[in-house]
Amino acid sequence: MSGEGPSGRALTAVKGTHDILPGEVEVWQKVEAETKRLFELYGYKEMRAPIIEPTELFHKGTGETTDIVTKEMYTFEDKGGRSITLRPEYTPSVARAIVEHRLDLLGTPMRYYYIGPMFRYDKPQKGRYRQFHQVDVEVFGEKDPALDAEIVEMADALLKALGIAETETLVNSVGCRACRPAFSAALRERALAVQDKLCIDCRRKMETNPLRIFDCKVESCREQARAFPKITGFLCPECREHFAAFRAHLDRYGVAYRHDENLVRGLDYYTKTTFEVVDNSAGQQNAILGGGRYDDMMKDFGGPDICGIGFAMGLERLIARLALKPEARRFLYVVHQGEAAKARAIELARFFRRGGIETVIEFGGRSFKNQFGRAGKLGAAWVLIVGEDETAKGIFQLKDMAAGTQVGGAPEVLLSGVRS
Ligand SMILES: [Zn+2]
Ligand SMILES: [Zn+2]
Repeated sequence: MSGEGPSGRALTAVKGTHDILPGEVEVWQKVEAETKRLFELYGYKEMRAPIIEPTELFHKGTGETTDIVTKEMYTFEDKGGRSITLRPEYTPSVARAIVEHRLDLLGTPMRYYYIGPMFRYDKPQKGRYRQFHQVDVEVFGEKDPALDAEIVEMADALLKALGIAETETLVNSVGCRACRPAFSAALRERALAVQDKLCIDCRRKMETNPLRIFDCKVESCREQARAFPKITGFLCPECREHFAAFRAHLDRYGVAYRHDENLVRGLDYYTKTTFEVVDNSAGQQNAILGGGRYDDMMKDFGGPDICGIGFAMGLERLIARLALKPEARRFLYVVHQGEAAKARAIELARFFRRGGIETVIEFGGRSFKNQFGRAGKLGAAWVLIVGEDETAKGIFQLKDMAAGTQVGGAPEVLLSGVRS
C-alpha cells in the first residue's frame, strides 16, 4: 500500500465519510453498549440485515416521493445487472427480512434493534455525513397505543442514560389511509392558493404529496405551512382514539412532551403516531431521533397484515454532543532484553493474557529505557521487567506506573497482584 492514487496525490476518505479513530471509538463503543443494554431490558433482540438491498425495496418502502428516494440514494448496477442501493434507512430491510423468513410465524409482537451505517447522498455539513450511523428500533405486530408510549419512554430513558439533557419530545398523529386523503386534498387546495410563495420543490410536492411541504426548510415555505390546515381536525375516530390513548400513556410514564401539529416526518409510510426528540441546547432545534407507526408497510411488501412502529437515532450528532469520557483501559506492558529473556517474555505475555490481563509486548529490540518510555507513552498501567537475570531466577519485577512502586515475585504472584 503506497497510499497514493493514480494521480500521485495521497488518497483521502470519500467525501462525506469519516474515520472513527482510537481515542474516539471508545465513546462509540460505550454508546453502543449502553444502547444494547437498555434495549434488551425492554425485550428487544438484535437483527443485522445486509447493507446493500434491491433498489426497489426503498421505492416501495421509503416512498417514491420522499427526498431520500428522489435525491439521496446511493444506487448502482452490479455486475449481474441488478439495481442495488446502499440502504438509506433501516425499516424497509427489517420488514423485508420478516416477510422473507416469515418471522411473524414465531409469534407477535416482534421487537428488533440494530446499530450500524446508513448511506445518503446529501450535502455534507457539520455533523452530517453521507455514511452515517444509526441506532434503529422496530416493533411489528402490536397495535396498542401503550406500545407507542413505551417506545417513546425507552428513547427518553436511553437519552437520560447517555446524559443528554435539554431535549424536547414532540408528538403528533398523521392519520391513516381512511382519514389522510381528505386532509391531503384540503392541504393541496390551500397550497395551490399560495403557490407563488412556495419553492419549486414544494410546488412539485403539492401535486405528489402535499404533507411533504411541512418538511421544507425554506423559510417562506415554513411561514406558509404554519397557516395550513392541521391533520388533527381530520383524524378519523380510530386515529383520534389512538392518539388520545398514546398521550394518556405518556402521562402515566411521566414523559414530558409537546403536541406539534406540523410534525409529519419526511417519510411516506407513517400512520397514526409520529414523534421526534429535539436537542434545544445549541439555540436551535436539531432532531436527535425520530420515528412513528407504519401500519401498512408490511402489507405493501406483500407480507402479512401486521402493523409496525419504530424510531431511528443518528449517532454522529449525538456523540458530538456527549461529554462522555470513557475510562482508559488498564494493561500490562512487557519489557525484555536478550534472546532468552525475549522467549520467556513471550511466554509470560501469554500467561497474563490467559489470566485475563490485557498485555502488550513489542519486538523492536529497544533498550530497557526506550521500552519504559514507550510503555509510558502508550499509557500502560503496569510494566513487567524480563531481563536475563530475572529469566534465570524465575523471579520478575512488576512496576505500577501510576504509583511508581515495584514488586518482585513469581508470575503467579504478580498476576494475582494485578488482578486484585
Ligand atoms: Zn384515521
Ligand atoms: Zn419549499
